[in-house]
Amino acid sequence: MAKGCKKCGACCKYIAIVIGKFPDDIKWAAAHNLRIIHHNEWEGSAVAFVPCRCQYLSDENLCTIYDERPLTCKLFPEANKRWLRPPECKYDEGV
Ligand code: SF4
Ligand code: SF4
Repeated sequence: MAKGCKKCGACCKYIAIVIGKFPDDIKWAAAHNLRIIHHNEWEGSAVAFVPCRCQYLSDENLCTIYDERPLTCKLFPEANKRWLRPPECKYDEGV
């Protein structure tokens, strides 16, 4: 399979927020059961993924308003840094 979207739907199930990397920041996020991803690209920050499934995502992980989807969806993931993508995203992978 070529590089590109694998249609897993993961990016439509979370909102990524940037938080601090201090122990209390991590503790706070853990208290909310957020998935924490540490990234070195942005020193001093981590990314937490807040579960938030889009109402337009079908059970088959397809966008039901694809032609009218918001611009941010149209630009994703090319316009986003890798660390803002959910860990499941295989966009850059060839298989
Ligand atoms: S997470 Fe990545 S591979 Fe999955 S649907 Fe979104 S852009 Fe495509
Ligand atoms: S509008 Fe479509 S592409 Fe955008 S988050 Fe919802 S399901 Fe995903």
